[in-house]
Amino acid sequence: MRIVLLGAPGSGKGTQAKKLMADKNIPQVSTGDMLREAVATGTRFGLKAKSIMEAGNLVPDDIVLGIISERLSQPDAQDGFILDGFPRTTQQALDLEELLDQMGTPLDTAVLLDVDFDILMKRLTGRRTCSLTGRLLNVYFSSQDELDECTDAGGELVQREDDNEETIGNRLAVYRERTEPLIAFYKEREKLTTIDAEGGIDVVYERLLESLE
Ligand code: AMP
Repeated sequence: MRIVLLGAPGSGKGTQAKKLMADKNIPQVSTGDMLREAVATGTRFGLKAKSIMEAGNLVPDDIVLGIISERLSQPDAQDGFILDGFPRTTQQALDLEELLDQMGTPLDTAVLLDVDFDILMKRLTGRRTCSLTGRLLNVYFSSQDELDECTDAGGELVQREDDNEETIGNRLAVYRERTEPLIAFYKEREKLTTIDAEGGIDVVYERLLESLE
């Protein structure tokens, strides 16, 4: 299964990709995660990407494509993958198409996770990661018990650097301008499926599974 998860920041791509990865035993390939790792370890790419990411802008296509083509050539990606956060521009989508053509493994489908703007804002501004367990939480949507479980154990609820209101506004604008055209791109190729991605994680996951059947 080779799929692209499309959707605005905060639409739940990462969360759903992780569930699918565990169920189907194919890797989640998240350019955001790989870039954050490059920033944290201070690689050449990371140094270039840091300020761009902090501002909520897009890292240049050639850097992202380099990261993706290397990742997709790894043995664990030969039986499929879930792309999360890539492609984000028409050029990236064309590059992906060419790369997969060369590999002889075309994309099966692009699933759009559809979420209303107000909910996206709450998901992004409220998003936290428990510093102890890495668990993703949300100050608006997680229960008090779930939040306390982290802090009572001595953990901190950490906010992503680019999850502040100013950067979020820019990330959503960048999504509209640069990434939303991919909806038409995949529709034209008859590869687009749209699911309602509002509601709880498990409900959305059921819809995702149904859409992949
Ligand atoms: P994400 O975790 O997917 O929200 O990505 C976080 C940040 O990483 C984005 O705001 C961009 O700065 C950068 N990024 C992630 N994926 C891409 C991509 N495919 N193209 C360009 N920049 C990306």
